[in-house]
Amino acid sequence: MFDGVSHDVEALVEFVVRHPRLFVLTGAGVSTDCGIPDYRDARGDWKRPPPVSHQAFMGSHGVRQRYWARSLVGFRALAAAHPGQAHVALAALERQSRITALVTQNVDGLHQRAGSRRVIDLHGQADVVKCMQCGATLMRHALHDELARRNPEWLSLTAAVGPDGDADLDGYDFSTFEVPGCHRCRVGILKPDVVFFGDNVPKPRVEQAFSALEDASGVIIIGSSLMVYSGFRFARRAAKAGKPIACVNLGATRADDLFDLKIMAPIGPTLAALIDELEPWQREDAPKRQNPASAGF
Ligand SMILES: [Zn+2]
Repeated sequence: MFDGVSHDVEALVEFVVRHPRLFVLTGAGVSTDCGIPDYRDARGDWKRPPPVSHQAFMGSHGVRQRYWARSLVGFRALAAAHPGQAHVALAALERQSRITALVTQNVDGLHQRAGSRRVIDLHGQADVVKCMQCGATLMRHALHDELARRNPEWLSLTAAVGPDGDADLDGYDFSTFEVPGCHRCRVGILKPDVVFFGDNVPKPRVEQAFSALEDASGVIIIGSSLMVYSGFRFARRAAKAGKPIACVNLGATRADDLFDLKIMAPIGPTLAALIDELEPWQREDAPKRQNPASAGF
């Protein structure tokens, strides 16, 4: 009971009980247990080549051929993933009415599949594809069916996969890979409806998240190095507003000096233990814990 993880969990329980309206921000670290790798190592450096940029994708048919070929091979892993301990725990936390918003940088949809409802998909959802010309949308699996029909020889390939379903296929000639245009306007470029690297999160979405942050009494950042500004800005805004911030992440983050509590422990088991520990508090319906040893947040 009193190993390192338990002390961490005690501190996190304390934080959650003290701050009943939580703004939660999650990153790739909550999905790694589900077989979806993350982008960064423990020091916050890239583990794999950075994902394709918005500008490169929109600017070159060759880049799009390479993108969709790699995606046809890699996206299956993303589509087959199931919510893990962290997703389940956060859905439970929401059912306990402790969460004002769950803002995620992930595009895997696993929070919703675990039952979370107050989700803001900061970077969109990878299972929808949108025409950049006329705005038509279609489900990604439908486009992948079409890609598979046109490019059957690619289906047998396998490769390591990134968090966005991008497979590490290199050294192939992508120039023969057939990419269909928009089914409606026929000319538009189809793009996953996610914010690519180098693109901005739509402003209304950012405002929605800021408004949830304003409403919150505390912030928990889980499984993100906050290396991209789209997530980092929430830590910065919270710190400026004097809101306490806890972080559960195995590695360094860009905002480490802003945290009131930093827990470097495996995310899934830590959050699962948090829910176990919180249950008695739910039954007593009054989060009024006395714990003189936990000053500082
Ligand atoms: Zn179109």
